[in-house]
Order: sequence, then C-alpha cells, then structure tokens
Amino acid sequence: MHFPEKPLPPIPGQGNTRRPRPPPVPQDEDEDDEEEEEVVVALYDFPGMEPHDLKLVRGREYVILEKCDVNWFRARNEYGEEGYIPSNYVSEKTSGNLVQFSWYSKGVNRNMAEELLRKEDKEGAFIVRDSSLPSTYTVSLYTKAGSGKGGPMIKHYHIKETQCSPKMFYLAEKHMFSSIPELIEYHSHNGAGLAARLRYPVGKQDKSGPSTAGFSYEMWEINPSELTFMKELGCGQYGQVRLGMWRSQHKVAIKAIKEGAMYEEDFIEEAKLMMKLSHPKLVQLYGVCSQQRPIYIVTEFMQQGCLVNYLRQRRGSFSPGSLLDMCLDVCEGMEYLEENSFIHRDLAARNCLMNDAMVVKVSDFGMARYVLDNQYTSTKGAKFPVKWSPPEVFNYCKFSSKSDVWSYGVLMWEVFTEGQMPFDQRLNHEVVAMVTNGHRLFRPKMAPPALYDIMQLCWNNRPDERPSFSQLCLMLSDVLEDDGTFSP
Ligand code: ADP
Repeated sequence: MHFPEKPLPPIPGQGNTRRPRPPPVPQDEDEDDEEEEEVVVALYDFPGMEPHDLKLVRGREYVILEKCDVNWFRARNEYGEEGYIPSNYVSEKTSGNLVQFSWYSKGVNRNMAEELLRKEDKEGAFIVRDSSLPSTYTVSLYTKAGSGKGGPMIKHYHIKETQCSPKMFYLAEKHMFSSIPELIEYHSHNGAGLAARLRYPVGKQDKSGPSTAGFSYEMWEINPSELTFMKELGCGQYGQVRLGMWRSQHKVAIKAIKEGAMYEEDFIEEAKLMMKLSHPKLVQLYGVCSQQRPIYIVTEFMQQGCLVNYLRQRRGSFSPGSLLDMCLDVCEGMEYLEENSFIHRDLAARNCLMNDAMVVKVSDFGMARYVLDNQYTSTKGAKFPVKWSPPEVFNYCKFSSKSDVWSYGVLMWEVFTEGQMPFDQRLNHEVVAMVTNGHRLFRPKMAPPALYDIMQLCWNNRPDERPSFSQLCLMLSDVLEDDGTFSP
C-alpha cells in the first residue's frame, strides 16, 4: 500500500531559496558592497566530511555565499577558503540574535534550566531561556542567599518589553535597556532588585553539534564500505537494527531491510526528501546504501533506545515534570513535521527514541507507507495501530496531521502511564467499537487534570476541532510553567 505524499514546501522562516545575486560590481572602486554580505558565527566545530565542505571553528565568523537549501550553505572563511557548511551550525551575527551568547540556551525549558542550575550549584548561576510565550525570554537565577530556610532557590524572571518604539527591555522597571545583551551585562554587575546579580552563565554544555541533514551537502548515498557494524540494537518490522560507525568516527544506527519487507524503490526515491527533514527532535536520516541488497538505512544513533521500553524499565522513577518534558520533545518534532505538511502515520511511544542527553526524538516518520505487510497496512490487519488511530483512519484510512494529533494524545497517555498498553488487552475490533461509541482512555494518575484536558482535545471525533501541534506546544509549555505539579 502506498499513499502519495505532498512534496515538501519551503520551510517557513528559513529561506531555502537561493540568495538573490549580489548587485552588479559598482563602478566606483571605493564603494563597498560589504553591507550585502551576510556574516554568521559558528556555534559548533564542524570538521568537514567531504573535500567540498568548509571546516567550522566555534566562535569564528563566516560569510554566506549561497543558501543552497535549508540545511546547507556555501560559505567563506577569513582566509578566503570556500565550501559547504551545515546551516544549523551557524547563527546570523545580528545584535538581536541571542544564540551567539554563552548565557543563552535555546530549547531549554523551566525544568531543564532548574536541573542545570542545581547541578552547577553556584551563587548567581543563571540561564537565559525561551519563555512559554513565543519570542520572549526568561532569566532563571540560582541563589543560596535570602531563601529563608537557608537552602538554595531558583527564581524565574520574565524579560519584559515596552510596547512603545524603540522597544526597551527590562527586569526591573527602573533599569531599561535597548537590547537583552545590555540588560544582562548591567545585571551581571548590579542585582538591582534581583535575588542575586547574574554572575555565572550556565550553558547546555552540548559542545558537540547537532545532527546534520546528511553527512554532507547532497550526499544521500552512503558507501557501505565506510560502515562498520557493531552490536545489535533491536529488531523491527523491516528487520535488524545495528549500531555502527561511519568512517570509523561517527556512531550511527544501521537498519538492514529484510527482503520483501519494503517497497524499496518508492522509499529510496522518498529518502532524498526525508533527509531534508532536519530538526533537533527528529531522528535524523543520514543516508541510504541503495546499490546493494539488503539496502541499509543509516540514521542518528539514540543510545537509550525506544521510549516505551525506557518508560517500562524505569517505572516509579519519573517525576511528572520529566514526563511532560518527553511529551514536549515529541510535540516539537511533530510541530516541525506539521509545518512541512509531512504526516507521520504511526506516531506512538514505540516509534520515539531517547538519547544520552534524555532528549526524546520522533523516529520512523512516514515509513508506514513502505511496509509490505497486509497485517500492518490494512486497518483490519492484526498489526494495524488501531489503538493510536482516530475514527477517520480506522474507518476510511484518512491520514492527516490531525490524525497524527490523535495518536499524539495516545502517546501522552503512554508517557503518563509509564508505558502501559492503551486499552490494555482489548482486541482491535473492540477498541474500534469503544472509540466509535465515544469511549476514551482514562486519566493516568500521574497526569494532572489540566494535562488530561489536553489529551482529550486530541481525541475529538472531528479532526478539524483537534488542536494543531503548534497549539499543543504552547498549551504544554503553559502547563509546565503554571502547574505546580511540574516543579522538580
Ligand atoms: P522498524 O522500523 O523496522 O520497525 P524500529 O525502528 O522499530 O524498526 O527499530 C527496532 C528497534 O531497534 C527499536 O525498538 C530500538 O530499540 C532499536 N533502534 C532503532 N533505531 C534506533 C536508533 N536510531 N538508535 C538506537 N536504537 C534504535
């Protein structure tokens, strides 16, 4: 069974069109076209995998020559050397961009900030992070002083902005600044109403860079002789998955597709498109070995394996906050797929993986379309994920981002029951009857009512009345910030 997928549209906010040609060379030699050049700062080291790549050194500046696609740019370094670089390793060098500052941690929420600050355990340790409100920021500050009971405490200060123009930023109304870096600089010397001055910036400490969309620009075919095989990681619908190394230095997961399990030609064609999907909360597809049988699918390695097993093996050890963090990770990955009109079709905790940094990522997106097994693809088949499917899917095979939202509600339930099987031992046809009659999964004990309300929104009979993933991300961040249950 094969469901055609829409082609990927450009990713909003990330110009994947070519940069307009620079203006003609000015007649006047003195006239400077430097202004036209986009300068970026490297956030991580990038060694360069192929001769056509440019090596990046963290903190150095580079000029962007061409935005080849969303994920790869051509750039020039200070010595005039040119080559391809991964776009997620650099950040625009503009004053409004915080990514270049050591005190700013993108993608760190309230719980993670508190954990990092406690670990550092230093007076005045602080992190600037994204608030639950989009495009606004919060300073999380650790202090041992003035907490009454003598124990350390963590304060969260929202960086407020004035409405008037030019916009001003402040923590304390008496001290306003035209930029956030100026505000941080000031409060690093003056507490001025804060519980302590901002003394020690604490970072996420992930010095190694994120996954790149393929190992190099337009490199989706991987040479199998550059792979070495290590231990077995698991076995799935398509066959065995093993840990391996690419060019003896990069750990990868290698799926060897067993004969007759997959519509291989269709998948190989789609793989080029799937490799362009690149997000910190998606398991990255690095490439395929398609010139041999069995074909190999090479992906990012996730040390802790699949989410459902992770939950089951550690039952009783999770705080509600850590469970909500897992849900948020998945929601962010799904928000990205939704933005790109890419439907997962089999979202469930078994199809999410966790790495050593305890980040959960969505895996196997879109892969259900290439399964050659009726028991899995037919809604009447024993392996069809009915327990994760909304009525329009088990009745009419109508998949959409909103059918993914229903599955996401079930995934939240799996997370908050620490990996229980939805609808327990019930058979697929019983679940169809129950859900059709309006029956829904019960509230897990670990899920506060506000969170269960969100799950139930995902299980609305009408797809268009379910929230989108971008709305879900906001709702979950709000619950995380506001509900006392989720403080560590
Ligand atoms: P299939 O797509 O063939 O059904 P899965 O993706 O479910 O296979 O993988 C089977 C098992 O292999 C997973 O449950 C997990 O334990 C392990 N595995 C798969 N991919 C990875 C990965 N990228 N990193 C670590 N373990 C993985």
